[in-house]
Amino acid sequence: MKLHTKAVHAGDRRKLSPATPVTTPIFTATSFFYDDVETLDRVFADEEQGYCYSRYDNPTNSALEELLTSLESGAGALATSSGMGAIHVALMTALNDRRRSVVASSALYGATIKLLMNVLEPSGVEVRWVDITDLAAVEKAVTEAKAGCILTETISNPLLRVAPLDKLAEIANRAGAALVVDNTFATPLMCRPLEIGAHLSVHSVTKYLAGHGDVLGGAIISDAAHLATLRTLAKTCGPNLGPFEAYLTMRGIKTFPLRMERQCANACRVASWLATHPRVSSVYFPAAPQHADAATTARLFPQGLFGAMVSFDIKDGARGQVFQFINGLRMIVRATSLGDVHTMVLYPAMSSHRDISPAQRRRLGIGDNLLRLSIGIEHPDDIIADLDQALNKTN
Ligand SMILES: *Cc1c(COP(=O)(O)O)cnc(C)c1O
Repeated sequence: MKLHTKAVHAGDRRKLSPATPVTTPIFTATSFFYDDVETLDRVFADEEQGYCYSRYDNPTNSALEELLTSLESGAGALATSSGMGAIHVALMTALNDRRRSVVASSALYGATIKLLMNVLEPSGVEVRWVDITDLAAVEKAVTEAKAGCILTETISNPLLRVAPLDKLAEIANRAGAALVVDNTFATPLMCRPLEIGAHLSVHSVTKYLAGHGDVLGGAIISDAAHLATLRTLAKTCGPNLGPFEAYLTMRGIKTFPLRMERQCANACRVASWLATHPRVSSVYFPAAPQHADAATTARLFPQGLFGAMVSFDIKDGARGQVFQFINGLRMIVRATSLGDVHTMVLYPAMSSHRDISPAQRRRLGIGDNLLRLSIGIEHPDDIIADLDQALNKTN
């Protein structure tokens, strides 16, 4: 079945199990009982498929997990309470029986950098940072560090570099390391990391998958080799998504391919329009043939789908002009987050990259005049009109 069909059918309308919830659905029940205790005994022993306690498995979450597994061709999935929870559990799974050493992309989401530096390094995990698009540098770091894991995002934030996942998978597999991919920005419509050799794919479902700005959640899609470890770790650490959020996420996913197609098409329109605006000096968007990762983009993504994030520099802009622009917007929402149905704007120097020194930001190519847009499903003319009137107020 094609992705659009799976999005509305997979996981849903399952036959009810013989288990009886002790409270009523949405399956808020924390525990389940059976007509006889022998069945419960077999369920506890994993000898029979069934539910006993919601930290182990819950019918609502399990339906969402079946859907996610189907969308990204995994062997199984885990729905978690946030994207960060998903990344944490995925890294623990990857390193479970490997050397506790991670080669990480230097352009990761801010909280992921903090997870590595402030949580994992103090607990004895070695971390090496590399430019993930430089394959020779990745290979060298993986060999030198005898890495147990390579961690990258499919599309980086906020400069939208595209990671060569197929080549990274070859490096990881040669070295016996796990490739963990944060696929939040690309979504399963554009990229299914497990199909090209990655071992664990993670999402902040808060973003495109749920898509309506009303769910905080995460997901890990696993290959067969890591699934048992993932489920065991989850049972012990308890990073579970609540069943209400699982329900909302499943509801969101039914329209996710349609939203994402529209958002990607809108982003193409906005990116080309911004490139012609006199108040804009650079546009960051993977569609351009002269983009540094054009070859990777062409190899990994379907035609015409380049993601729905667009970043740009305001010409000769400093903080003052940037604030003028943001305050001048009438429709576009000034808020942290991305992937929602409405278009949003974010100022990285003030938010995601605030804790990084201006000098370090400049080295990363993130200027004080850089803005990031998450393009929504509105009519593109309205998005462009709002950007135009706000840009024309800057001087
Ligand atoms: C938002 C985000 C996260 C964190 O997800 P939460 O749901 O906020 O915990 C991780 N990675 C990327 C790329 C994100 O955009």
